Amino acid sequence: RVVVVGSANLDLVVSTPTLPRPGETVLGDALRTIPGGKGANQAVAAVRAGARCDFVGAVGQDGFADQLRANLAEAGVDLRRLRTVPGPSGVALIAVDARAENLIVVAPGANGELTSLGADDRAVVEAADVLLCQLEVPLPAVAQAAEWGRNAGTTVVLNAAPARPLPADLLDVVDLLVVNQVEAAVVAGVAAETDVEALLDALLALVPRVVLTLGADGVRYADRLGLRLAVAAPTIEAVDTTAAGDAFTGALAVAWAQRRGPVEPAAVTAVLRWACAAGAACARRPGASTALPTRAEIDDLYAQ
Ligand code: ADP
Repeated sequence: RVVVVGSANLDLVVSTPTLPRPGETVLGDALRTIPGGKGANQAVAAVRAGARCDFVGAVGQDGFADQLRANLAEAGVDLRRLRTVPGPSGVALIAVDARAENLIVVAPGANGELTSLGADDRAVVEAADVLLCQLEVPLPAVAQAAEWGRNAGTTVVLNAAPARPLPADLLDVVDLLVVNQVEAAVVAGVAAETDVEALLDALLALVPRVVLTLGADGVRYADRLGLRLAVAAPTIEAVDTTAAGDAFTGALAVAWAQRRGPVEPAAVTAVLRWACAAGAACARRPGASTALPTRAEIDDLYAQ
């Protein structure tokens, strides 16, 4: 069982021929509303990858909340710890031009109200095999959940996105950090052009295990037991890499839970290869949360 403590946003997406400059108005095509937010996406990714998953999060009191709730419920995510708080839901305003460049403004809304957790949340975290968090909800809630998880023997996985420097009390209770190269540099407090080996060294000084995602190049893995791995992603024709990171992270949490925290190189490699198959399966389809792959689709690509 996986529990996600994180965000739910509704993405309001409009395609336009060109992006507006400050003060400019452009006409776009029809508005699309797409459920998103890293927390919700990773919860849906985990369920599709074959796990049961609780979502600890917040939506507002507006029509968007109904859509966010319905999407998660339809996916099969357990919503007993999803609260409704006064005010608007989290929203991302997205404009995309013909070259796929985008402008994004996020209004955190209800996600920003998830400042503290309670006994019922704690019970769910303690009962899970893996706790999966991102950084789109307030840090105190993430740190609290992570501390409960660590004390209960729940594996704590932190996808440090969007990246920010992290306090020691949170880093001290993280078992596995999942970051892309940009996020890795921010968390480690080193220059963006730092090479991969030095990045891994810097991150291992902070947490015991690190997964560094490298897009089409797959992932690097390093742990304090001295294991270092490079795992390739399947070769696919990338159509839309939005949410590929969420597909990867959700699947990683599921495989990690099923293998009960692998240590052997072959087992760690298998888990990472399977998660890469999930990321790639998402990237070869258009759409974000709508493109998150099922277990069968992941198995299929993994076997190729
Ligand atoms: P993020 O979007 O968070 O920066 P990445 O782009 O590194 O994350 O993608 C996460 C994972 O998804 C990668 O490690 C890889 O396994 C898979 N993936 C992403 N893009 C591709 C691609 N073009 N081809 C194959 N796999 C991909």
